[in-house]
Amino acid sequence: MAFELDDVYRSLQADAVALARRVEPFAVEADESLTVHEPTLDALRESGLLKLVVPSAFGGMTEHVDPLAICIVREALMAVSTHLDSLFALQGIGSYPISAAGSDAQRADWLPRVATGEILPAFALTEPEAGSDLRSITSTLREDDGALVLDGCKSFISNAGVAAFYVVLAREEAGLSLVLAPTATPGVSVRPGPKLIAPHIIGDVLFEAVALPHDARIGEPGKGIAVALQTLAVFRASVAGAAVGLAQAALDEAVRHTRTRKQFGRPLIELGAVGQLLVDAWADVEMARLLAYRSAERARTDPANALADASLAKLAATEAASRVVDKCVQTMGRFGLVRNSKMERLYRAARPMRIYEGASETLRVGLARDLAARSER
Ligand SMILES: Cc1cc2nc3c(=O)[nH]c(=O)nc-3n(C[C@H](O)[C@H](O)[C@H](O)COP(=O)(O)OP(=O)(O)OC[C@H]3O[C@@H](n4cnc5c(N)ncnc54)[C@H](O)[C@@H]3O)c2cc1C
Repeated sequence: MAFELDDVYRSLQADAVALARRVEPFAVEADESLTVHEPTLDALRESGLLKLVVPSAFGGMTEHVDPLAICIVREALMAVSTHLDSLFALQGIGSYPISAAGSDAQRADWLPRVATGEILPAFALTEPEAGSDLRSITSTLREDDGALVLDGCKSFISNAGVAAFYVVLAREEAGLSLVLAPTATPGVSVRPGPKLIAPHIIGDVLFEAVALPHDARIGEPGKGIAVALQTLAVFRASVAGAAVGLAQAALDEAVRHTRTRKQFGRPLIELGAVGQLLVDAWADVEMARLLAYRSAERARTDPANALADASLAKLAATEAASRVVDKCVQTMGRFGLVRNSKMERLYRAARPMRIYEGASETLRVGLARDLAARSER
């Protein structure tokens, strides 16, 4: 793989940076929002970048969803606003199962409106008692007189309450299946979730005897986990991209501060330990970026076999982002602690990234198996 982005990706990167600059003046307000911040969503819609999250046959920009493009865009958006990044990423995560495994009718019904931002999707896997251990979920799907009936409770679901539909993982006789449940269906209701350290649109979604058409499954009965893992292969690589954007923004902020603030008669960055902390942070950012791009490129060329690379990149980049932002706070002294300052927002935003879409420890467990299997070959 080349180490430089080509002109197509550079142009997308420039568009994403332009969008981020547009949102920057109201990013603090957007990032505190517990529902959709309309000016942010309007800017995202107008940018046209949402076309990246669905295939071109259904209103998208590229023939297939391009993980490298999504990774690069998230890098630029996360540098400025978690809310902007989340709105963009969720359009992809919530709709990718339909792009990858949905029927033509499902694709034609939902994807064009996702690509314009007219509607928002959500991907509902987690339950009150099932987080990392997805195979223990208890939501059920059963056939009843030619229809499907969905029951269960999903917890900590991004876009809960604002989504037009939920892609839900539920248990049936054949195993775990994905099913598409429009919000407007009777029996679907939402309870708002808690306010997180980095506020996020989140909530619990209840499905009580929700009657769905017989063709509401996404993909084959019992094959839901495979589609969910394919989705994670694409989007874990993009979480890595977002982590790189966050880390780079923290580094930029810390360098700006430490070049201008003087102690002991010299800029902080020239006082040995401060500059060294920042150089270590710089090395972390550069390594994480290479890994993020490489895993996204693998997910682009071979999505079915990209999960291990994407998991490794997500693990490495989100852990690196936490290290980087912690060092950067340190170099800014008390100025890094001010509530809602750029640095403090980045510090809070980094933390959830090591938990959602595969917590670091569970990624390590899976990757250790992969590592052992590779050495056997
Ligand atoms: C901001 C945010 C947005 C989210 N959005 C969504 C969403 O849209 N849809 C959705 O379905 N879910 C969503 N989630 C939920 C998220 O996917 C879960 O938080 C995640 O899967 C971890 O599950 P848990 O929080 O229940 O932690 P647990 O599974 O209880 O894990 C707790 C700790 O134990 C560790 N652990 C667990 N199992 C093992 C093991 N086998 N070996 C070693 N360590 C282990 C974990 O790594 C973690 O450190 C979101 C979460 C957050 C924070």
